[in-house]
Amino acid sequence: MKIVLANPRGFCAGVYMAIDVVDQLLELCPDEAIYVFHEIVHNRHVVDRFKQRGVVFVESIDEVPDGAIVVFSAHGVSPAIREEARQKRLAAIDATCPLVTKVHAEAIRYARKGFQILLVGHRHHQEVVGTLGEAPQAMQVVESPADIATLVIHDPEKLVYLTQTTLSLDDASIVIQALKTAFPSIKEPPVSDICYATTNRQTAVRAIAPECDLVLVVGSANSSNSVRLTEISMNCGTPARLIDDRSEIDPAWFVGVNTLLVTAGASAPEDLVHDLIEHLVKTFGAEVEQHDVRHEEVEFGLPGTLKALMRARNVDPSVRRIVRGDEGDQQRAWFAKREIPFRVVDLTIAGSTRTT
Ligand code: SF4
Repeated sequence: MKIVLANPRGFCAGVYMAIDVVDQLLELCPDEAIYVFHEIVHNRHVVDRFKQRGVVFVESIDEVPDGAIVVFSAHGVSPAIREEARQKRLAAIDATCPLVTKVHAEAIRYARKGFQILLVGHRHHQEVVGTLGEAPQAMQVVESPADIATLVIHDPEKLVYLTQTTLSLDDASIVIQALKTAFPSIKEPPVSDICYATTNRQTAVRAIAPECDLVLVVGSANSSNSVRLTEISMNCGTPARLIDDRSEIDPAWFVGVNTLLVTAGASAPEDLVHDLIEHLVKTFGAEVEQHDVRHEEVEFGLPGTLKALMRARNVDPSVRRIVRGDEGDQQRAWFAKREIPFRVVDLTIAGSTRTT
């Protein structure tokens, strides 16, 4: 069997940042409880590993003792949650991905200008709940074209749509087209809200999946961008399975599979991909080929709220930076150490180089 590894896959800049925030807090405040509001990122392993290190995950600010440290997850929170934290005098550290914050800022800006905002996304996803909270009186969620008939629109000339950052490009374009048909004057966001990481991981699957017999996506079931990768593959006609880790694979899936694509959602740790590959190579004697479709060089700095806490504790934030994981040379070294045949095929479609 040939295993094709999609690149990019796995952690995005926002996930590196959010995980690093909690890591840095554990180091900075070893004797204090660290609370995280919602899962820091949507991955079971990431959350379980932090729980084992004493981090407490809560679903309500009421669960956090007055004055304690609380981290807002990468998906962002509504102003009401920030206010609840302020009322309890919590040390709130905001690990919201800057690309989610950008959508919040757009919502606030358009609402102030008197626009009604149609937010394309999944109604119950934490990111959508947080964005909606910025201007609830001006926003309505659109999950599918069927929702358009139920919208209450005051002035079709003062309408804009925004989107959740982790949607399927295919599905979003169907909804957006339906919105444009229903409301020809609807404004678009200045830049697509679907983030670079979601776009790149989907582009890689769309480019590679048609040549494969099966796609395995490493990621959790509540990870929107991971689920979308399985959908993109199935849209290409290639069956796909979403797995948290290698323990969930079923040998029956591989009957008749000659070429397998492995990818990972933006919140899935690379060591889970390595573990899966090692298992597949041992079981099937597979060779591994990484297909590079996009190069990513996006990095985010530490959030201002964390820097402020560091300064308050006499730690210089300028000497701390986000720690990136296993990439490039380290990856080659990992395969070489295990004597797994590995080569890289450059299929780069276009660069994706942005630094914030
Ligand atoms: S998937 Fe996109 S929006 Fe979400 S954390 Fe990653 S970079 Fe940010």
